[in-house]
Amino acid sequence: MGNQPLIVLSEDSQRTSGRDAQSMNITAGKAVAEAVRTTLGPKGMDKMLVDSMGSVVVTNDGVTILKEMDIEHPAANMIVEVAQTQEDEVGDGTTTAVVITGGLLQQAEDLLEQDIHATTLAQGYRQAASKSKEILENIAIDVSEDDEEILNQIAATAMTGKGAESAKDTLSSLVVDAVRAVADDDGIDTDNIKVEKVIGGSIDESELVEGVIISKTRVHDNMPYAVEDANVAVLDQALEIKETEIDAEVNVTDPAQLQQFLDQEEAQLKEMVDKLKAVGADVVFCQKGIDDMAQHYLAKEGILAARRVKKSDIKRLARATGARVVSNLDDIEEADLGFAGSVAERDVGGKDRIFVEDVKEAKSVTMILRGGTEHVVDEVERAIEDSLGVVRVTLEDGKVLPGGAAPETELALGLRDYADSVGGREQLAVEAFADAIDVIPRTLAENAGLDPIDSLVNLRSKHDAGEQTTGLDAYTGDIIDMEAEGVVEPLRVKTQAIESATEAAVMILRIDDVIAAGDLSGGQVTDDDDDMDMPPGGGGMGGMGGMGGMGGAM
Ligand code: ADP
Ligand code: MG
Repeated sequence: MGNQPLIVLSEDSQRTSGRDAQSMNITAGKAVAEAVRTTLGPKGMDKMLVDSMGSVVVTNDGVTILKEMDIEHPAANMIVEVAQTQEDEVGDGTTTAVVITGGLLQQAEDLLEQDIHATTLAQGYRQAASKSKEILENIAIDVSEDDEEILNQIAATAMTGKGAESAKDTLSSLVVDAVRAVADDDGIDTDNIKVEKVIGGSIDESELVEGVIISKTRVHDNMPYAVEDANVAVLDQALEIKETEIDAEVNVTDPAQLQQFLDQEEAQLKEMVDKLKAVGADVVFCQKGIDDMAQHYLAKEGILAARRVKKSDIKRLARATGARVVSNLDDIEEADLGFAGSVAERDVGGKDRIFVEDVKEAKSVTMILRGGTEHVVDEVERAIEDSLGVVRVTLEDGKVLPGGAAPETELALGLRDYADSVGGREQLAVEAFADAIDVIPRTLAENAGLDPIDSLVNLRSKHDAGEQTTGLDAYTGDIIDMEAEGVVEPLRVKTQAIESATEAAVMILRIDDVIAAGDLSGGQVTDDDDDMDMPPGGGGMGGMGGMGGMGGAM
């Protein structure tokens, strides 16, 4: 046995250890951050992403870019998760979170080279992150839930730099109204806000409908187009005769028997409609199908019905009208019906939709977003999603921070002070953390075409003098009071970004061994177009698949 090597791993597997593993992961992580960096802030640029099917997305939204990029490297994927967490928790700040992670990794690389152990680094980063939370909470501004002005500002800040910006006054008040409308004792669930995209018209003509709009038409032409003071039945059962489960064979020996069979089916369908009629339903929304014969009877009774309504819409309809979703027609009662002052089929942007409005307490609302083209409306929708998120979070927490890198500057200063009290090697890590946070003001300045060093120095000197709310106006390049300017963001956008960025950076740093079952570098560099700065005109959009290989470029 003596000299024979012991083979533990299969031939295909690849192993990278120690410093090599660390630097490979750091490089991959940094590359992801680098990819979204140019989109940060009001003057950030957009990215055009083309998938393998050729469909195009033009966006400024961090998490969307990363999801569309189809990243393969495992460490790079951890950064994508940071963006995803940010999106789920807050809805905004995805680019910020990713850029900070990149900054943390960048700083860590320098310290690792100076032989600071990764564990020490991780420890220092963790300490710095919890101190950051404290500093941010200290400078946060309290907002009451009926401070309309600040809520509008919060909504508008989340839209700056995105496709929605041109109409941000109109849109931000729609967003605030929508979030307020769906708030109830259980909290705020923005899933109750439906966004209905309409191509045609301008963004300014977007509107909020207190109620639900469904992209369906009446199921039968003889049904009324509109019903007023409607009693609404919401079903998740089909108005059809169930097919028998087993393959039954019915032998029909004479025509009369067949007729009898059909008559019986018809009678059953009629009975279903009669039941709906008996409880007083004027409108029926059905998640499943409605048989032709049932449609006929419904129309005859003057009932407006729609079939194959999406499950999410069924839920919203029930919530808006106060109906109970009925799964079995046999036990439907009058009390199960909901109410809407108006149910009507109308044409919006060349497509018929059913509007359910004038509900007593619209706990479910629909926002009609208009825009010139599909790409425009899609990007407006993403901005609206961010905006809905920040308004929800503000109503939940009641705490905001000024924007324009004001909190980041304050944070970097505070952390450097704190570092002195930490001592030891961790002190270096805390200082590195502060340097990493500076990536935000620097990037904001760079993207606005300003000199990052000048901006950073100016910001620091104002904050040193105690001006906590001073930030960088990305439009003019001036250093101004951001709170007075109305550029505000929820506290949670920043605390969450720092928390997830730290977690991801620490996780990546602590890895000293990568054992891959397959070839890691295989799917990475697919062609020579692995440069992260997508060249204008993109020397081969087909190279997008190669985005997964950005690690290889560095
Ligand atoms: P994220 O995905 O992180 O939200 P954004 O592209 O939305 O990225 O940029 C957010 C950053 O832009 C925040 O730091 C915010 O403070 C800043 N910002 C927003 N509006 C302004 C403004 N008018 N002037 C300066 N900075 C702004
Ligand atoms: Mg944003």
